Amino acid sequence: MTIAELDHAHVWHPFTQAHTAPAPLPIVRGAGAYLYDEQGKAYCDLISSWWVNLHGHAHPAIAAAIAEQARTLEHVLFAGFTHAPAAQLAQALTKILPAPLERVFFSDNGSTATEIALKMSYQVWYNRGEKQRTLFLAFDGAYHGDTFGAMAAGRTSSFFNPFQPFLFETRTLPWPHTWIGDTDIEAREAQALLTLDTVLAQEGQRIAALIVEPLIQGASGMRFVRPQFLRAVVERARALGILVIFDEVMTGFGRTGKMFACEHIGTGQEITPDLICLSKGLTGGFLPMAVTVATDAIYQAFLGEHFSSAFAHGHSYTANPLGCAAALASLRLFNDEGTLQKIAALEHVHRSALQELAQHPLVHCPRVLGSIAAFNLGETSAGYSAAMGRTVQQRCLDAGLIVRPLGNTVYLLPPYCLTPEQLQDAYATLTNILDRCNKDSDNNTPASTGF
Ligand code: PMP
Repeated sequence: MTIAELDHAHVWHPFTQAHTAPAPLPIVRGAGAYLYDEQGKAYCDLISSWWVNLHGHAHPAIAAAIAEQARTLEHVLFAGFTHAPAAQLAQALTKILPAPLERVFFSDNGSTATEIALKMSYQVWYNRGEKQRTLFLAFDGAYHGDTFGAMAAGRTSSFFNPFQPFLFETRTLPWPHTWIGDTDIEAREAQALLTLDTVLAQEGQRIAALIVEPLIQGASGMRFVRPQFLRAVVERARALGILVIFDEVMTGFGRTGKMFACEHIGTGQEITPDLICLSKGLTGGFLPMAVTVATDAIYQAFLGEHFSSAFAHGHSYTANPLGCAAALASLRLFNDEGTLQKIAALEHVHRSALQELAQHPLVHCPRVLGSIAAFNLGETSAGYSAAMGRTVQQRCLDAGLIVRPLGNTVYLLPPYCLTPEQLQDAYATLTNILDRCNKDSDNNTPASTGF
């Protein structure tokens, strides 16, 4: 049987309506920014395989680190035991994170990283005797993963409608997203802060924590906010003792041009979060791993004479040595390959390409930060625009480019090994495809690919 036949017979794919989706494309190998199918056709991975890949596919340094670790110690349970890769990775992460974040809790993926942050932030209050703090603040359009707590915090995404009866209480704040050329952002920010002030005045004493994707909401369509807005939000929450969780599952490890998005917001103690969630790029895209990093004050709230105050949470593969070895190798590459400079070069290409594309009749609300660029097809997110997103996806695939628009939002989030020239070529192809889509819409040709 072929890969496709075996898959069709037995596999259930994530975020996929298998009844209508096209058959998944079998990929047999990866190298650098490219993935290859069974016929040897190359595809430029412009979305870093769901935002996980940093330095390129099958990077030899990370592959070697994993192989070496596999020959030495593949796994050991992490309660009552420890090992060098985990201890060294915890140290390496706390060195590059803002100073108060110094205690690393390991898990397996972005959803568990945020689930753990939500659980920790409530148990802090529980352990301190403030059990009434059962309410969480989250933003409209947020996405924090698919476990129950993460779904509650991301309840405004339509993904979780069947589960609404099970989701705990949250208050949803407006997310004043912005783009290049946006003219009334101040007014929308002021309105959002007013809403926050009202919620805080009415329910501040019931709120355990605020959770936010700093600067860019990923899954709801690469929606950017300005750093000064987030600064104002964090200051207000802090003033009432509310804990602040930064979900940097997507934005971490250089995506926004700095190692972590929180660095754009400010480095002072009053601005840094109490908990930060990291995953995706943590292992350079090689192995599933996540961390939730807490301040010492959070950690101290769990210490006591009895197990009842401990954080009773853990996974079989917590701090898997192979994942830790991959993560350490990935962090070394940031130095060895001058990764932040590479990201700056990609940002430069994004900016000049989007400046040109901004003139295109289909392109609206262009935005760029670090390695991430995005724009909308048309002014509304529904119907024809979203169908056009699927057409762009299919035509890009035919042309050897992997993109996966979020509704009508086309975004590029490439591995950092992509060269500026390769990115320019990708933009040239994309522009041709947009021209064709525009012609189709002028001729009223249906833009849908039929799925
Ligand atoms: N938080 C954010 C900001 C994310 O973008 C994602 C995944 N897209 C998650 C959490 C969940 O991560 P995972 O898919 O690894 O569970």
